[in-house]
Amino acid sequence: MMELNIQLFAVPFRKVSKTRKRMRRAHNALTAEGTTTCKNCGAVIKPHRVCPKCGTYKGKTVIEENA
Ligand SMILES: [Zn+2]
Repeated sequence: MMELNIQLFAVPFRKVSKTRKRMRRAHNALTAEGTTTCKNCGAVIKPHRVCPKCGTYKGKTVIEENA
């Protein structure tokens, strides 16, 4: 007698449509960790630090620009 050595896997019941797949992946976007945006100028900055672009921290001008 031949021995049947078949492994059974979980098989999806239905094909996931392009729309379903894209709807699921709509939430998979990566965001840069450890960064925030400046409240004043909107630049991407490190948190709890003076904005190097406009020199403000918590809405107050800390570093005056030499223009
Ligand atoms: Zn700024």
